[in-house]
Amino acid sequence: AVKLHGRDGWQFFNESLQEKARHRLSITNGLRLAIERNELSLRFQPIVVTESGRIVGGEVLLRWHPPEGEMSPGVFIPIAELTGAIVPIGSWVFRRSCETEVNWRSRWGGAAPYVSVNLSARQLGEESLVEDFVSILKETGADASRLLLEITETSLMANVDANLRMLRRLTDLGLRLAVDDFGTGYSSLSQLTRLPVNVLKIDRAFVDGIEKSQENRAVIRAVTGLGRALGLQLVAEGVENVEQQMELRAHHCDYCQGYYFHQPLMMEQFIDRVNAEMNRTGSPAEEVS
Ligand code: C2E
Ligand code: MG
Ligand code: MG
Ligand code: MG
Repeated sequence: AVKLHGRDGWQFFNESLQEKARHRLSITNGLRLAIERNELSLRFQPIVVTESGRIVGGEVLLRWHPPEGEMSPGVFIPIAELTGAIVPIGSWVFRRSCETEVNWRSRWGGAAPYVSVNLSARQLGEESLVEDFVSILKETGADASRLLLEITETSLMANVDANLRMLRRLTDLGLRLAVDDFGTGYSSLSQLTRLPVNVLKIDRAFVDGIEKSQENRAVIRAVTGLGRALGLQLVAEGVENVEQQMELRAHHCDYCQGYYFHQPLMMEQFIDRVNAEMNRTGSPAEEVS
């Protein structure tokens, strides 16, 4: 009976599934050891004022360098979420982000950029998350109100009721919340208003091509109008050219992030750019307290 299906066909089918599983397993095993093997690092992509390009924040982006070569977070994060490996890794990222907040504040005081950190839905599902974050905040001395947690729209909306309770506990700590990749999920607007959200990060799919067509501009107008109506701060992702910057400015999207302004940077580069900017504009390096 097996022969009816053709031997090669079956083999191909089985092998590709097996291969996929093997690939996942090796990534998962690698990720479990990544922290102690010192294979993780962070990049910081500036978030800027649309109008002036002034840096107001930095998004923390995880990098993994296993011995086989660097792997993109677009590949390993979804697997880490599936297997739960994201929980200890996310905790490591949050601790490093808190240390970064303290570092930047010690350099620039109240003028320091805020620190934006990605949080996965899988972390939100952990009862111990709040306790973990509380002790990390305490141990590092980070100012919670200078940290922004980014959660993708898709994962937020997947389980609003369960997430809501957790999000309230996080905002009670003073942490701020952003909806990441906004526009790619299917938010019901009434659900969105229930969430204690401060910032909408407009997915780069909506920024892509706004300079090219009337339709794309109509969409960005609708999305920015919605954000404003809800009283949210707007950040456009993936801004790659000056025409897009101009369009976003015309639609009163106050903040931007993208290769046109800055790539994700190493910590030292990030610090150099903020310093250079402050020297240029004469902004206070230290807040008078
Ligand atoms: P994201 O949070 O939406 O981050 C923005 C992604 O867009 C980053 O990719 C960034 O490098 C990229 N990007 C920035 N500007 C531009 C641009 O002008 N054009 C284009 N085409 N891309 C741009 P990256 O670093 O590869 O991260 C991919 C995703 O992986 C992130 O998307 C986020 O969802 C996830 N991720 C990264 N670090 C973490 C982390 O520490 N924890 C969790 N849970 N997820 C993370
Ligand atoms: Mg993000
Ligand atoms: Mg995003
Ligand atoms: Mg994205």
